[in-house]
Amino acid sequence: MKEINAEEISRAVARLAVDACCLLPDDVEAGLVRARQEESSPIGQAILEQLLENAALARAERMPICQDTGLAVVFANVGQDVRIVGGDFESAIHEGVRRGYTQGYLRKSCVAEPLFERKNTGDNTPAVIHARIVPGDALRLRLAPKGAGSENKSLLRMLVPADGLDGVRRVVLEAVKAAGPSACPPMVVGVGIGGTMEVAALCAKRAAVRDLESRNADGRYAALEEELLDLVNSTGIGPQGFGGLVTALKVHVEWAPTHIASLPVAVNINCHAARHAEVVL
Ligand code: SF4
Repeated sequence: MKEINAEEISRAVARLAVDACCLLPDDVEAGLVRARQEESSPIGQAILEQLLENAALARAERMPICQDTGLAVVFANVGQDVRIVGGDFESAIHEGVRRGYTQGYLRKSCVAEPLFERKNTGDNTPAVIHARIVPGDALRLRLAPKGAGSENKSLLRMLVPADGLDGVRRVVLEAVKAAGPSACPPMVVGVGIGGTMEVAALCAKRAAVRDLESRNADGRYAALEEELLDLVNSTGIGPQGFGGLVTALKVHVEWAPTHIASLPVAVNINCHAARHAEVVL
């Protein structure tokens, strides 16, 4: 049994929060470089150039890539042979977010209650935590700040099996067209297929924050990712919605077993600031 101190988790999460908000991941930067080469519209090229310049400035000045530093979404793979000591796991993550967003001067974007008071919690807590118990004695933490511009364009449709592949295409196009410039394209489109309603949504979120270069392990779904990317880019929305070839850098699909009478499809969009940072303790 490996012991990990809660304080170590808090320190790691604080670092991840600042790194994720200020350092565009290499895979996303490479995607933007590729997009600039592929984009034919002059205004689209100019925008991609600005996005790259913005990312370079943020890295050099240690400033946020975007003013919306998002809700702190944390994916945790907790090895079943790990024992957290010196505090509880979730409190340690919240403390890390509190420190990172405060010490890093990152915008606090979380309200404590969604409808009536909407009072800012003042430190960007609580984090959104998705934890899985996995084999082994490591704790893997992936923090993905999620801004509202793209998150607000998420979509869930409870299709039935007869809707099939065409239904999936339809839902993805519906989400992307409704998002348009509001999701700050070029986007990374996460698609969750199957499960129950909430599992489909979580699959879509996992897909949206996957490394840009990754492909679904199942060849059929990897091919679907390619097909959906072509479909999304055929909309012509383009960088920041000014028209062009590159509306999305990638479409990622994650799937889950589902009911014999269900075909849930969820879409979660990530903007060009597709931020994520990861650590293994
Ligand atoms: S969608 Fe992304 S790039 Fe646009 S404002 Fe929100 S966090 Fe920033």
